[in-house]
Amino acid sequence: MLGFGVDWRAEGTHPAPSRRHVLRSCRKRLRFPLATTLAIWPQVSGRHTDCDRAHFRIAVDVGHTVATPGATSARGVPEYRFNATLARDIVRALTAAGYRRTILVNDNGRIGSLAERAGVANRFHAAIYLAIHHDAVQPRYLETWTFEGRPLPFSDRFHGFSLFVSRRNRRAGASERFGRLLARELLRRGNSPSLHHAEPIPGEGRPLLDRALGLYQFDDLVVLHEASMPALLLEAGVIVNRDEEAALFDPSYRGRVVGAVVAAIGEFCSEADSRRSR
Ligand SMILES: [Zn+2]
Repeated sequence: MLGFGVDWRAEGTHPAPSRRHVLRSCRKRLRFPLATTLAIWPQVSGRHTDCDRAHFRIAVDVGHTVATPGATSARGVPEYRFNATLARDIVRALTAAGYRRTILVNDNGRIGSLAERAGVANRFHAAIYLAIHHDAVQPRYLETWTFEGRPLPFSDRFHGFSLFVSRRNRRAGASERFGRLLARELLRRGNSPSLHHAEPIPGEGRPLLDRALGLYQFDDLVVLHEASMPALLLEAGVIVNRDEEAALFDPSYRGRVVGAVVAAIGEFCSEADSRRSR
């Protein structure tokens, strides 16, 4: 579905008119010279103003697996469950927004191979790849509290999102562009970036591409450099932080993240279509 103009490919019952035919009829009816006709073509086709959502392929990856679920939250919930919940929310929202070619990678939580996750997206010919994760902190920051009778590690020191791109990805520039769009949409909704991955301590020290946007460079992330399309990894929040974990249980808070992803993908898709139409 296109927001504006006409999507000829969406016409199921009539053959699509050729571009030459459309241009000729435009010139005849509107009496525009050819140069003007070519200039208005993107607007006529709708590509300049909105993207072709029905054909834009998106791969959303649930980070980690049931067997190796990643970090553990302050209340003892495995990261995989947060990833699966948010990724499913995102796919549902994207599909409802008209992105009908959206797939959930690792939906069953059994794809252990990082290269295989990227392989699924590559074979699907996705135009964008987004890996969903939730964050932890280095052991030095952990304290212990008791939740439901169990002593559990937590740290309230850091909160917020982080975004990672790999310069080894074949579309590194576009990956970074998508990261900037998503960060801005998250900021617009009141979310803030966490800069703890840039701390000069063992296990961190990641270079920041943009401090204000929480955008990091992490070249060796396999899912990102094996993906043949623009790829981004989102750490949606710090689940060892007790308040942020509680917020992430709330569907309306997750809805802010979901809304940011849908908006950023819309902008990225529009820009991609705009570039193609030039
Ligand atoms: Zn993770």
